[in-house]
Amino acid sequence: MELACLDLEGVLIPEIWIAFAEKTGIEELKATTRDIPDYDVLMKQRLRLLDEHGYGLPAIQEVIGELDPLPGAAEFLDWLRERFQVVILSDTFYEFAMPLMKKLGYPTLLCHKLEVNDEGRITDYLLRQRDPKRQSVRAFQLLNYRVIAAGDSYNDTTMLTQAEGGILFHAPQNVIDEFQQFPAVHDFDALKKTFLELSNRF
Ligand SMILES: [Mg+2]
Repeated sequence: MELACLDLEGVLIPEIWIAFAEKTGIEELKATTRDIPDYDVLMKQRLRLLDEHGYGLPAIQEVIGELDPLPGAAEFLDWLRERFQVVILSDTFYEFAMPLMKKLGYPTLLCHKLEVNDEGRITDYLLRQRDPKRQSVRAFQLLNYRVIAAGDSYNDTTMLTQAEGGILFHAPQNVIDEFQQFPAVHDFDALKKTFLELSNRF
């Protein structure tokens, strides 16, 4: 049995924090795991910036509601779901992702959760577990699934390493150079082809 695991931001949807930074003009919010590999350091910086600028969850959700999946992403996901069971493994939060999940037909999503107070201020974030993408792949393997995974950034590399097949998609050159063991592709047609190549069933 095979399972496909996909990263979300940068693969199927735009980087949510970058879109929010562009809308609000808060330049420092453009930092992602591509720039700061330590996710905890990155999130603490984001929450501090939101506080400093007085933004709560409703303002962020308003921006996210205006975003669309990346061009070709919905079609790719439909293609993949015809051929594999698909689980999306993301370091985003359910509170941010749901408006975009609707546009993708609500695929299965494992991610994190925010803590929000009555005024809509994000007070904290709850990570489901440490190294969640790799732990998810490990758990699926314990269920006798063979996993093929694709992602675009540092926070995907332990998932790609744990999986029987790992693919870099839309990755920046520094990640491609550092992780040359993974095939690197840049469009959905090449991604489809690589999923089939790494599969035992096609
Ligand atoms: Mg990503």
